[in-house]
Amino acid sequence: MRKGTIVENLNAVRERIVTGCAACGRDPATVTLLAVSKTRPAPDLRAAFEAGQRDFGENYLQEALEKQGELADLADRGLCWHFIGPLQSNKSRAVAEAFHWMHSVDRLKIAQRLSAQRPAEMPPLNICLQVNIDSEESKSGVTPGELPALAAAVAKLPNLSLRGLMAIPAARETVEEQRRPFAQLAQLLRQLRDQLPDQPLDTLSMGMSGDMEAAIESGATMVRIGTDIFGRRD
Ligand SMILES: *Cc1c(COP(=O)(O)O)cnc(C)c1O
Repeated sequence: MRKGTIVENLNAVRERIVTGCAACGRDPATVTLLAVSKTRPAPDLRAAFEAGQRDFGENYLQEALEKQGELADLADRGLCWHFIGPLQSNKSRAVAEAFHWMHSVDRLKIAQRLSAQRPAEMPPLNICLQVNIDSEESKSGVTPGELPALAAAVAKLPNLSLRGLMAIPAARETVEEQRRPFAQLAQLLRQLRDQLPDQPLDTLSMGMSGDMEAAIESGATMVRIGTDIFGRRD
């Protein structure tokens, strides 16, 4: 995509975050924009980076690793990599070694491997547990009922930092309907804070291009935006 268009789109999304926060009395600095760059070539990410974007979300490991190679010069300028897709456990090492955040942990085995494989010289890997908030067959994530046990076990792992929850709700027609699953996720995070008071638990990774405003109203601290920054994917 044209560099100018990416920058314009990025500015429009930032504006939506500011407006969305104003509408519910939140400080826009409490919402991190995660640019979801799956399927996008490295120059598109570089254009966004040069326009001030720092956090990038990737779904496909091999593709992400290739882009990390092409963008290696941005690593010590603050580029932050987030893995947001499903992960097979035999691929966990690359995530442990090359990412700052992992948003889609939904079973203990993956978490145990990530902790064991996190290099000792790196800070703990930031973890969000993925919740299948609408109980959809097609989506990953734990049920709300499974969450307390998984969270308690993940909290004990030494090289992970349990930051919060992630969800991808089913599409809905109205903003009002969009709010319901987001409010449920926010409630689950509050319960986890009571359960595990010594964990950071400061992150609600929720809201995409089509439902960002509802997510912000419901307390999102990280919105994951692909289409509205980089255009429609094929
Ligand atoms: C693709 C994807 C997004 C971004 O979706 P858009 O609708 O393009 O903004 C966000 N989160 C996850 C987990 C994704 O896979």
